[in-house]
Amino acid sequence: MDAIIGAVDVGGNKIAVGLVTEKGELIDSVQWETDAELDAHAAIVPIADELKQLSRSHGVPLVGVGCAVTGPVDYHRGILGKNAFLPKWEGNVLLSTLIHQLRLPVFADNDAIASAMGEYTWGAGKGARSFIFICVSTGIGVSVIIDGQVYRGVDGAHPECGHHVIDINARGPACFCGAHGCWESLASGTAMELRWREEFPEEPLKAKEICNLAANGVAEAQTMVALEGRYLGVGIANLVTQFVPEVIALGGGVMGSYDMFLPYIEEQIAEQCRLVPQELVEIKPARFRDKAGLLGAAAVFPLYSYRLQGLNNTHDE
Ligand SMILES: [Zn+2]
Repeated sequence: MDAIIGAVDVGGNKIAVGLVTEKGELIDSVQWETDAELDAHAAIVPIADELKQLSRSHGVPLVGVGCAVTGPVDYHRGILGKNAFLPKWEGNVLLSTLIHQLRLPVFADNDAIASAMGEYTWGAGKGARSFIFICVSTGIGVSVIIDGQVYRGVDGAHPECGHHVIDINARGPACFCGAHGCWESLASGTAMELRWREEFPEEPLKAKEICNLAANGVAEAQTMVALEGRYLGVGIANLVTQFVPEVIALGGGVMGSYDMFLPYIEEQIAEQCRLVPQELVEIKPARFRDKAGLLGAAAVFPLYSYRLQGLNNTHDE
């Protein structure tokens, strides 16, 4: 039988808990709204209870638990950093409570890194030696995976490739990262929405709505999509030049319209990346959409290393 991993996806709005097989199949899941007011211990015990309940009702023991959490997470020490959404969860309370309640190995990582791990383990990046996952939604998150390992900087820091500056005159929008004209400030879904609002202040639209209008042939929306596509393309081309990865996968809400943006992205890569074998870099849409959170969480659990070490002893509760 496949080993089953407990998956926990903790976001600012909802907590989802599920069972995932080692082949990346989501067997079952439950979710509820995050209550940021709750004492962390009280909020986390129900996560353990739901995992026990799911494990029991499907008659499958768990080998361990992977958690994907919004905000900074120290993967090696299992410590959550300062988090605007879950202020009471800071520290090691998530891991210590789950380990105590479940008596299983538990690992946690940031949710953006976890989604990249999910795509690498079972999705668009499967089998790639070098893989970059880009999530384009309200912001732009980027994770780089090399030889199965997430690239981490000094003291485990996560590089913020979504905030590299693409406006050489630095006259672009001011970003909370400190830069003017960084990639996120010009190419995120929010950036596209702000550009639209500037032009049509009476008719503010969400990124998805602008894409839908463009798909229906509305010229103004198509112009917006073309500009967004070029901004996205410039940043992706920079990543191609710097990393030349085997695969780049694009996920996040804005990439629901992946096909519409792809020609602009390819154009930028073809133009800018002439020193590297750009034709070998595969650009793909992310595979997982609504399941990305839980599959990413499960991928945080280092199943294969545990198996290799013979530590995959199962546990009933
Ligand atoms: Zn920035």
